[in-house]
Amino acid sequence: MQQQKNTGAAPGSAAGGDIAAPAGLDHPQPLNTPEELRAIRQAMREGKNPLIATDVPRWEDQVGVDRIINRRVVELEPLPTPAQVLAELPLDAAAQEIVAYSRDEIRACLYGQDDRLLVIVGPCSVHDPAAALDYAHRLARVMKEVEGELLIVMRVYFEKPRTTVGWKGLINDPDIDGTHNIKKGLLLARKTLLGVLGEGLAAATEFLEPTSPQFIADAVSWGAIGARNTESQVHRQLASGMSMPIGFKNATDGSVKAAVNGCFASAQQHTFFGIDHMGRACAVETLGNPDCHVVLRGSIHGPNYDAESVRHAMEDIRAMMPADSAAAHGLIVDCSHGNSGKDEHRQAEVVRDIARRIADGETGITGVMMESFIEGGNQPAAPLDQLVYGKSITDKCISWPETERLLHELADAVSARRWK
Ligand code: PEP
Ligand code: MN
Repeated sequence: MQQQKNTGAAPGSAAGGDIAAPAGLDHPQPLNTPEELRAIRQAMREGKNPLIATDVPRWEDQVGVDRIINRRVVELEPLPTPAQVLAELPLDAAAQEIVAYSRDEIRACLYGQDDRLLVIVGPCSVHDPAAALDYAHRLARVMKEVEGELLIVMRVYFEKPRTTVGWKGLINDPDIDGTHNIKKGLLLARKTLLGVLGEGLAAATEFLEPTSPQFIADAVSWGAIGARNTESQVHRQLASGMSMPIGFKNATDGSVKAAVNGCFASAQQHTFFGIDHMGRACAVETLGNPDCHVVLRGSIHGPNYDAESVRHAMEDIRAMMPADSAAAHGLIVDCSHGNSGKDEHRQAEVVRDIARRIADGETGITGVMMESFIEGGNQPAAPLDQLVYGKSITDKCISWPETERLLHELADAVSARRWK
């Protein structure tokens, strides 16, 4: 998978904002050499503007559009194509079977044909693939103990949306040091997904970058559109073409309507900008995704997992979504984030509250989400050798022993509901 760096990107590539190809300029000039790229980086380190401080030829200069194009783009580094990445780390027949089968099982829970509780559980983010696979191994054991009552899917989150700034996840910065080796991150993410599937577990993830799913989505059984993106047309279009069920979080200000609109929009056909398996810019035409549903995650104003909030949310959903849709059947409660004030002990209380309600006969909640890792709590992000093993570097997580207890309590609640 040898790729050359090329600051002179092909016109129409996706990194800058303003990159339309002027007529007749559709043949990029020679690539920049590694020395030239070093000169650009050196100028940046010295606090200079590399566009002015170096005489490195860029495509923009060569074709005479340097005054108006890519004035703030330092580098466009080609990535391997999705086809290359998938070929390098393919899903074998057993892994493909897990993905296809678990997507059907998730659908059955979402539409109420399976009375098990969907449980999406795992770390807020994966920063250490070894620890994620250690966690997957533990979770696979519990999954077998409770598989009659719970449909367990592991959170395997590689892309973190930030309220302001911060570590953006394993794909964006796998070395957790600001070097942003996305090529390495993509391969590591895929390897992690293959390892999770190798444990017999299905994977859930948040889709954040509009083109990254081409590299990993074949290994994913459930997807989230996060609270910060639930109103985004780009993400709704993306969801309309995804092969798995997608949960739309309520917005950070608590708006459930934004998530319902997301489900509605994503169920329709769309045509939009994307890339194909060869990495080429494409007009993507989708069928629409009928399996979208709402995830209640609380908000800056407080929790929304209580019975009254769930009832209200279901009213809003049923006012807009067809009666036979996944969304109108029920919703998922994310016990973390705004529902826990990002405190892992409160998160466990939320899980227990929901378990009690399920045991009492609650049917509107088709699934729960929990943020859980090997160690409880979290720690500041840093390169791997400076970190406590198995502890989150994003949101606080419930510890493994407590997670195991909670999963059994949820399973007991589902059994109790069956005897109602
Ligand atoms: C998450 O699941 O870690 C997350 C960022 O969720 P939300 O979009 O609800 O904040
Ligand atoms: Mn989180």
